[in-house]
Amino acid sequence: KLSKRLQTIADFVSPGSRVADIGSDHALLPVYLIQSGRVPSAIAGELNPGPFEAARKQAADAGLTSKLQVRRGDGLSVLQPGEADTVTIAGMGGSLMSGILEEGFLAGKLDGVKELVLQPNVGEEFVRGWLFKRGWFLAEETILEEDDKIYEVLHAFKYDEAEVKERNAEVYDPSFLMLSVHQDKGASILEKMGPHLLRAPKEVFFKKWRFELDKLGRIVAQMSQSDLEQAEQKKQQFVEEMNVIEEVLQCLQ
Ligand code: SAM
Repeated sequence: KLSKRLQTIADFVSPGSRVADIGSDHALLPVYLIQSGRVPSAIAGELNPGPFEAARKQAADAGLTSKLQVRRGDGLSVLQPGEADTVTIAGMGGSLMSGILEEGFLAGKLDGVKELVLQPNVGEEFVRGWLFKRGWFLAEETILEEDDKIYEVLHAFKYDEAEVKERNAEVYDPSFLMLSVHQDKGASILEKMGPHLLRAPKEVFFKKWRFELDKLGRIVAQMSQSDLEQAEQKKQQFVEEMNVIEEVLQCLQ
């Protein structure tokens, strides 16, 4: 049985698509996707030797060597253009993830890919920013908690450029937030906190941001003890960030 996190990712994958799971580790996700009949075949990409061997073993033990190809390499370099309809990347930081996507994009590895399912552990704003910049429509997002960790999963599609532009303009329209003080920050708030998550905030969403506020509060308190000018500037930035998050949470309640 998959973890709740991986199951959520699996449920976003369009049935019948050819999947490439990048940074697959033990290849649990592609093995599940094939075994459950959701997808006909998959590629698991791994950079590091340990996880690569683990993925190979998992594919062999599951008797899936013909349907699941395990390849060793950096990011999307393991793919040939046109080989995959869906790319999944999960369990790494958003900054690394957007770097992998950008490199893959520049090398043409995303040509023909129609769907992305992405689960950054932190730094979700980098991933949303990349999706927006490269013309992917952010169709859905979800947030979940498992074993005291909170995860976000993003689901994006490639359509015709004009259509993506129009749909994303709607998604990223911050007017629903009714911000008064931090109106000018609307767009960056949506990128950071998630335009869909903000529109239908669940309890775990509030929990995440209360937790982030606590964390920022602790950093600010620590910085207050320093008399370096640099710390003062950084502190102001964090205080401002806290004020923005607080106003957003108030708007939602
Ligand atoms: N995707 C799995 C999941 O969500 O359960 C595994 C997540 S694991 C924490 C991250 C994996 O990404 C590691 O196995 C690591 O070796 C791999 N990885 C890190 N950087 C990578 C890169 N540039 N290309 C491919 N794999 C990478």
